[in-house]
Amino acid sequence: MIRITLVVLTFMLSQTGLAETLLVSSQDEFEDAVDDLVPGDTIMLANGTWRDFEILFTGVGTPGQPITLTAETRGEVFITGQSNLRMAGEYLVVSGLVFRDGYTPTNTVISFRRTRGDYAYHSRVTEIVIDRYNNPERHESDFWVMMYGKHNRFDHNHLVGKSTAGVTMAVRLDSEESQENHHRIDHNYFGPRPILGSNGGETLRIGTSHYSRSNSFTVVENNYFDRCNGELEVISNKSGGNTFRGNLFFESRGTLTLRHGSGTVVENNVFLGNRVDHTGGIRVINADQVVRNNYMHGLTGHRFGGALVVMNGVPNSPLNRYDPVDNAIIENNSIIDSDHVEFGAGSDEERSATPTNSVFRSNLIFNEDRQNIVAVHDDVGGIEFQGNVLKNVDEPALTGGFISTTLELASADNGLLYPAGEQFADVGVSRDLKALDRESTGVSWYPKPGPDIRFATGETIAVVPGEDTLFDAADGAGDGDILLLAPGEYIVTKTIVVDRPLTIRAAPGTASIEFERTALFEIGDGGSLKLSGLTISGRAAPDVAGNSAIRTHRYSMLNNYALVVEDSTIQDLDVNHSFNFLSVARHTFADHIAISDSEFRNITGHVLTLAQETDDLGLYNGEYISITGSRFQNIEGALADIYRGGTDESTFGPHFELRSSSLDSVGNGSRNKSIASIRLLGVQATDIFDNVFADSQPIRVIHTVGDPVTRLGDNQFEESPEPIIQEFVRLMEH
Ligand code: CA
Repeated sequence: MIRITLVVLTFMLSQTGLAETLLVSSQDEFEDAVDDLVPGDTIMLANGTWRDFEILFTGVGTPGQPITLTAETRGEVFITGQSNLRMAGEYLVVSGLVFRDGYTPTNTVISFRRTRGDYAYHSRVTEIVIDRYNNPERHESDFWVMMYGKHNRFDHNHLVGKSTAGVTMAVRLDSEESQENHHRIDHNYFGPRPILGSNGGETLRIGTSHYSRSNSFTVVENNYFDRCNGELEVISNKSGGNTFRGNLFFESRGTLTLRHGSGTVVENNVFLGNRVDHTGGIRVINADQVVRNNYMHGLTGHRFGGALVVMNGVPNSPLNRYDPVDNAIIENNSIIDSDHVEFGAGSDEERSATPTNSVFRSNLIFNEDRQNIVAVHDDVGGIEFQGNVLKNVDEPALTGGFISTTLELASADNGLLYPAGEQFADVGVSRDLKALDRESTGVSWYPKPGPDIRFATGETIAVVPGEDTLFDAADGAGDGDILLLAPGEYIVTKTIVVDRPLTIRAAPGTASIEFERTALFEIGDGGSLKLSGLTISGRAAPDVAGNSAIRTHRYSMLNNYALVVEDSTIQDLDVNHSFNFLSVARHTFADHIAISDSEFRNITGHVLTLAQETDDLGLYNGEYISITGSRFQNIEGALADIYRGGTDESTFGPHFELRSSSLDSVGNGSRNKSIASIRLLGVQATDIFDNVFADSQPIRVIHTVGDPVTRLGDNQFEESPEPIIQEFVRLMEH
């Protein structure tokens, strides 16, 4: 093998000798450089793209003279393809690299170990970007960061867009060398993580149930959690002795859950929900937890996902269940315009151990509308309530230890709300609490994502009737463009692949579309589609079974899509049998599907079939499905068939809503295996109101998991059976 001569850029005098900075431009040069490192050395990766680079960085530095791996220029070194980073040794520092355009061939992108038993200690990863570095297979589980060893630091990193199964970052305690680790995780930007649609979408996990009675002593401070929506645990704390402080949770669906382990402190954190669905705060389980001086505003989460939830435990709990709350201190938190505070949550025959030896004091619970948001599910005699203040609640759930009084809030210089005047100065969060600035986290040299806006952000493009004028316009459209269709007839001879957000809207008049392929639209990865004011007919489609007006990409999709249909008419999807309006593939996921003010008639298949995840692994195909003000006539399949199997309770969805709509002869086709006009299996939230069902199959709601809430009201059933609701879960809330 040829030895590669290293380029030695500079020499630096150091206390112990000559430290070098080595600029390397190939993987071979890097490997040679790593072999000869001494304390104080720096390896610099040359600017450019490093493809398929499995970086193994080992060495032993000293406290004053770490060994560093960095970029020639921060943000100009891209690690792509099948790459990853493992580090082992002592006093190592890695910085400045960008992982994107690929995915790890192993189970981890950045690992603080070489292999089992060979860990990193006193080492640091800082100013690293991992940007959508996702396995193309949505449910192929992997991890972006795994911390092992002890005394390591992970700071000022930018982790955005993990859309595959597997926690974004985990601290492992699976050997003695990794327990009582005193790691520090600080000033990171944990950017948007889309809804996964199954368990395994946590952003940060510390420990596992197996080692949960060990202490980790990890400090998680000053991190920004921006729209971390993967599943119901944003952070899953599963070990003891940790500290979470100064973090900001922005519009993140889910909670900081003290799932396992005791003696953790949660203080000085800010949760801003902005009334986004399922935004939560802190869930308390286990002994010796301290929850102090946290600010929660506009959190809508309910049940285990509430603003502040104190659980019941299991007597002599097995490791993977719930140790009872004992000796908890919950004080000086401000809970403002949020929806749920729960005591004794989860109380049932198994979770019968109520909280003991605990205090809940000097907390502020303020709801402008004076609603009681406190729910008490079991005996709270083991919690001493002192000096808590409620805003003038009409019927408080708890009276001892709470003052319910007239109270106004005023905004302070730090942007947070406090009781006006001096009377309650000691209640709620301290005046010096600071809401973390997003820009102080992550890196300065890589842009943070903007708001989630899909449609109508681009140009408006006029389209005239004709053959493939629509296809051509769609093909040339950019992100967020609007195609404005002049009245007339449109013939589409090729399937339109929508791989970016696209709106197709009719100008005043009638724009009619016919298509000659087995699908008019295919939503590709990254695509979303909004149809407005159109008339779509299936009569020119091929005379084969199984056509679709719209289908998803036929394989796994990483990006969640949206489909919006408004003021449109969809008709004559009936040239052959099983012609669906929408067909989805396994491992695809709709963020939302919304149909409003539209008419669907003469369809031989289903309108919406989101029932491809039949392995009962807790997966499903869409989060929010909403149908309002629409008419469905002569639909042989179901209006909606939604399937969420499995028994884990890790997801908020699916959600289904049907309002102010009419169904006339829906579900009566012999091929409709659901034998329903609407079949909802494992759906977590259902609202069906103000509809008329005529000559249609029944609604079938099958409760299989979680704590589903199903509400039906003001529906008329003419020549149609009453809804059928089947129960397979213990606890029900209708
Ligand atoms: Ca989970």
